[in-house]
Amino acid sequence: YGDYNQKIDYVFKVVLIGDSAVGKTQLLARFTRNAFNVDSKATIGVEFQTKTLIIDNKTVKAQIWDTAGQERYRAVTSAYYRGAVGAMLVYDMTKRQSFDHMARWLEELRGHADKNIVIMLIGNKCDLAGLRAVPTEDGEEFAQRENLFFMETSALESTNVETCFLTILTEIYQING
Ligand code: GDP
Repeated sequence: YGDYNQKIDYVFKVVLIGDSAVGKTQLLARFTRNAFNVDSKATIGVEFQTKTLIIDNKTVKAQIWDTAGQERYRAVTSAYYRGAVGAMLVYDMTKRQSFDHMARWLEELRGHADKNIVIMLIGNKCDLAGLRAVPTEDGEEFAQRENLFFMETSALESTNVETCFLTILTEIYQING
């Protein structure tokens, strides 16, 4: 719904990557449907969802791709990255390992994606403050070193979710619009 009779000026493909269970699907659900499903999905196969928004008086359709479980099988293929103008590298701030894997995901991304891709590092689950295993400064430092945008989010509480998508889409628009 919503897209009928609407002139779309731009379609921007954005891919979500990162370890399984960091909250990629919930971030997508929060942004596109303002929903959070307590029972997580068991979907296999690549999926995307769209959200249409106005940036600088242009109608921009964000097409956001979710690995939907494929990361468990190291099956994220080049088709997933093809045509992406933005990427969100998501870790779970309560799981140190998911942050330590960011370098690997970034390498994978840079190996497949366009040179001008806009990349945002996201530390998700900031509502679980007492379980934090990755200090904010570690995220900031990694992002600065690798020239990425950085934000901490909670898909559960909606913290920064809208902001992080708007930030990356606005930056994408500056480059590709
Ligand atoms: P994915 O495998 O990266 O797509 O991760 P999911 O979106 O399926 O989320 C994995 C688990 O983390 C699920 O149980 C979610 O309910 C939970 N989760 C996702 N985002 C958040 C968040 O911001 N806060 C909390 N507390 N839990 C979250």
